[in-house]
Amino acid sequence: MTSVALPTIVRTGEEIRKRVRDAQRSGQRVGVIPTMGALHRGHLSLVDAAREECDLVIATVFVNPTQFAPHEDFDRYPRDLDRDAALLGERQCDLVFAPSVDEMYPKGFETSVDVGSVADPLEGERRPTHFAGVATVVLKLLNLVPADFAYFGRKDYQQTLVVGQMIRDLNLPTQLRVCATVREADGLAMSSRNAYLSPDDRQRAVALSQSLALASQMVDMGERDVVRLRAAMMNVLDQAGGIDLDYISFVRSGTMDPVDSIASTTVVLIAARVGKTRLIDNREIG
Ligand code: AMP
Repeated sequence: MTSVALPTIVRTGEEIRKRVRDAQRSGQRVGVIPTMGALHRGHLSLVDAAREECDLVIATVFVNPTQFAPHEDFDRYPRDLDRDAALLGERQCDLVFAPSVDEMYPKGFETSVDVGSVADPLEGERRPTHFAGVATVVLKLLNLVPADFAYFGRKDYQQTLVVGQMIRDLNLPTQLRVCATVREADGLAMSSRNAYLSPDDRQRAVALSQSLALASQMVDMGERDVVRLRAAMMNVLDQAGGIDLDYISFVRSGTMDPVDSIASTTVVLIAARVGKTRLIDNREIG
């Protein structure tokens, strides 16, 4: 058995910033992967992408309280830093920045980042404080880890637009890299929240990606009408049973602009509750 070096865990903003600065001063390219931990192959694919183009790879592990509403799962969100560090070590991640809540939000913290209209629909409507929490923590992380590249997953499509908008509008020096969604063998998008699913719900949950795949096939066969596509998708979800649909939305790729017919590349976004677990997924079609 070969032993794998564990990444160094850094707890303070001061230390991580110094390490990034030292690396960049010596000409190294730095990549950062912001996560909330409970890592799976989706997260690790972002580490692999960073490893390909960066000299110093830093994952951040921080369950950010400000992006959860009071009734959401902040308290029960899975946390296991030792396991995460071991997985990151296997992917040759160099450093893990795992600050405490007090380190990120000391007494007296008040600022919030509002990125505007891209954060308004869909997830923004259902989770009204969510994207301000995301934008604020990502800005803080990119100030503490001013990396050359930051890696995000397409799985959270609207989040990638929110982060991109903020990086552009605030002239951050970090370039955004968006990486493909990693899926289970049956198509379910990997998510830390899949751990909440009961065995029955896990079976049902595949209907989300199946409905997206059906929409894609229908468009490939010439269907352009969003009403018919949505109806076909809902039929897949109904047949699975136990799925409470939140939304199915069609937007022009790279934007949150809704479309009512598939004229150019379109992203279909879906959110649904499977049992008690809220899942999101999306797919580019057309
Ligand atoms: P999270 O820990 O859920 O906040 O996710 C951290 C990062 O991993 C985000 O950029 C996510 O979009 C990304 N991510 C989560 N699940 C996947 C997946 N299945 N495939 C690719 N990236 C993912």
